Amino acid sequence: MTGQGEIRERRAEGSAACADSRIVSLRDRARRLWTRCPGCGLEVERSGLRASLGVCPHCGFHHRISVGERAGYLFDPGSFRVADEIILTADPLCFQGGAYRREAQELGREAMAYGTAAVRGSSCVAALMDFSVFGGSMSAAVGEIFRRACALGVEHGLPLLAAVCSGGVRVQEGAPALMQMARVMFALEELSEARLPFISLLCDPSCGGVAASFATAADVILAEPGALICFSGPRVVEQTLGIKPEPDFSRAESLLERGLVDMVVPRPRQREVIGGLLAFFSERG
Ligand SMILES: [Zn+2]
Repeated sequence: MTGQGEIRERRAEGSAACADSRIVSLRDRARRLWTRCPGCGLEVERSGLRASLGVCPHCGFHHRISVGERAGYLFDPGSFRVADEIILTADPLCFQGGAYRREAQELGREAMAYGTAAVRGSSCVAALMDFSVFGGSMSAAVGEIFRRACALGVEHGLPLLAAVCSGGVRVQEGAPALMQMARVMFALEELSEARLPFISLLCDPSCGGVAASFATAADVILAEPGALICFSGPRVVEQTLGIKPEPDFSRAESLLERGLVDMVVPRPRQREVIGGLLAFFSERG
């Protein structure tokens, strides 16, 4: 093919490629602006979601939020003073030839941040988990951060508040990560001996060795609506036992009925409830 015919074909190919790139760019833009709600399946504007504390305006589904977003709605403005020491994994097993350690170092933070904070004027030590760091899993470094949070509470006579969002212990660290379950319980024992209360707020998900250690060893256990709280999730139960668990299996509401959870608290009410609990404990001394 030569002449006009060839030119027409090249133009057609060029305009098709241009249309494809426009579609990709529009899709990227849409993804940045909108997200599909897992609760109702509707598209939700991200800016609106941020303004509603990550709660879907259509169905009330509680989306996962960052540590900064949680601190933003929960604590008195400017009161969260994050401990500035950086504690990262030592990668005891040299997992994947050090690739895990490199990834952790690139992230530059662990799956838990802690510091002092105030909720409606009542001071506490807060430990907030970050699901974006290895699924919020408990590594040896997270165990150490939690221990330091407890020690800070004992040092200043402050109660501890933990917002849990974790898939369990970190498989990349094997046994040293599992041993953190005992370590965090010893740290909580020191808090208890100092007669300081511990409040945990279980968010979706609160699973595995984290659920089986400090998350459910609190004096008051609060949970977000719909949060999955379990040692093994429904998929593992189905694969292991060959039975399909009920849709509400190990969800916050069913665990409230069974007595594991003390109260299911939607995000817009958490500040009021936690502030009230901290004030109550403070009055009791
Ligand atoms: Zn929804």
